[in-house]
Amino acid sequence: MIKTRFAPSPTGYLHVGGARTALYAWLYARHHGGQFVLRIEDTDRERSTPESVQAILDGMAWLGLDHDEGPYYQTERMDRYKEVIDQLIDEGHAYRCYCSKEHLDELRAEQMANKQKPRYDGRCRNLSEPSQEGAPYVIRFRNPTEGIVAFDDDIRGVISFDNQELDDLIIARTDGTPTYNLTVVVDDADMGITHVVRGDDHVNNTPRQINILKALGADIPKYAHVPMILGDDGKRLSKRHGAVSVMQYRDEGYLPEALLNYLVRLGWSHGDQEIFSREEMIALFDLHGASKSAAAFNTSKLQWLNQHYIKEGDVDDIAKRLAFHFEQMGVDISNGPALSGLVTAQRERAKTLVEMAENSLFFFQEFDEYEEKAAKKNLKPAIQESLQALRDSLVELTEWSGEAVHNNLIATAEKYELKLGKLAQPLRVAICGCGVSPPIDITAELLGKDIVISRLDRALVYISERVE
Ligand code: GLU
Ligand code: ZN
Repeated sequence: MIKTRFAPSPTGYLHVGGARTALYAWLYARHHGGQFVLRIEDTDRERSTPESVQAILDGMAWLGLDHDEGPYYQTERMDRYKEVIDQLIDEGHAYRCYCSKEHLDELRAEQMANKQKPRYDGRCRNLSEPSQEGAPYVIRFRNPTEGIVAFDDDIRGVISFDNQELDDLIIARTDGTPTYNLTVVVDDADMGITHVVRGDDHVNNTPRQINILKALGADIPKYAHVPMILGDDGKRLSKRHGAVSVMQYRDEGYLPEALLNYLVRLGWSHGDQEIFSREEMIALFDLHGASKSAAAFNTSKLQWLNQHYIKEGDVDDIAKRLAFHFEQMGVDISNGPALSGLVTAQRERAKTLVEMAENSLFFFQEFDEYEEKAAKKNLKPAIQESLQALRDSLVELTEWSGEAVHNNLIATAEKYELKLGKLAQPLRVAICGCGVSPPIDITAELLGKDIVISRLDRALVYISERVE
């Protein structure tokens, strides 16, 4: 069975690069009916924080990238790493290195002066123990000195390294704590990971990890290294480019479907298809279709997708997400139309849910002032009589509906020999405070009779007090 994992270090929020890597690993597992593991690599205690762990869990949950196992925490597996380190030493695959920092610094300086790649010289490889009883030491992996390590990367093809290029890496520090390459290997082996999908900043670690896996007699997983994401200026994506944290996209009013769809296409394609539902992604995704080269983030395309999903998505789901934004804005939505009706009315014209919420405030609270231009143009004395007549006819309605409002609007406009728009737009400004809203009948229906009448009254006072 196929088993993939996402193994973030909790040293910050979940950024879009990490999210895309997670998505690819998740899709690969889901496509093959396999399992997806979440593993928190929190052994760097200085840089790992509980807030970052939470941010990662939140980001994954918001995106709907569910895991079948975990989250595992590496800090809870320290005994196991110790066990494996001891085993490697016992079997001669690892050894204690007592070299002082001074010696290593000197070695490095010498190698640099000779234009050689700095690397450990293997000085402690064959010490007879216990020659240095009591002295501090690190533990190094005894890397093979000959031959090559090659792997067939699912994205990048065959990559091979000369063992001579790889020195004996440290697998445990002086204080006994294991290093990244050791913990990853132990976990990937113990957890039965068959496919390691991760950022390509780890390509150079892979041959080292393969050598350790071989020493442990473990199966070697397949690897797929996902290229990084660049900003639209071709530089590595960072905060300078705007939002990079997954949760910031939520806060800015994006739907998770839009971000997922955006991320899956960033470096992967299926013909010229742009829109992929979650089910389609799962059905069609294949690592071999992923691009080797870095992809540039394009916010306007993400916006386009967001707009698409706002228009086409499940109304109740969008309504639930919209409620979150109203809450963030401190808007009480208990007095106002049902959000599902609001979403249906507003979805055609919002690029983000934040925009939709901002454009819908008048449904829940009285607006302070009219939008100046709209009021100037539409709420003027010439319209007073007909608007009053419209108001009086609406008051009479016993059944409030968009259709009834519409019929009264037509009748009143006819009576005063006005084009429909000449009366509809003043009505809109009167009840919305601004010149843009969903169709006026729907808007009036959602607002309800009491508010429409009271706002018409307010507008009529405004007009009567208006000095030309
Ligand atoms: N924890 C590593 C990181 O965040 C990833 C390790 C891996 O995927 O092998 O970069
Ligand atoms: Zn040494």
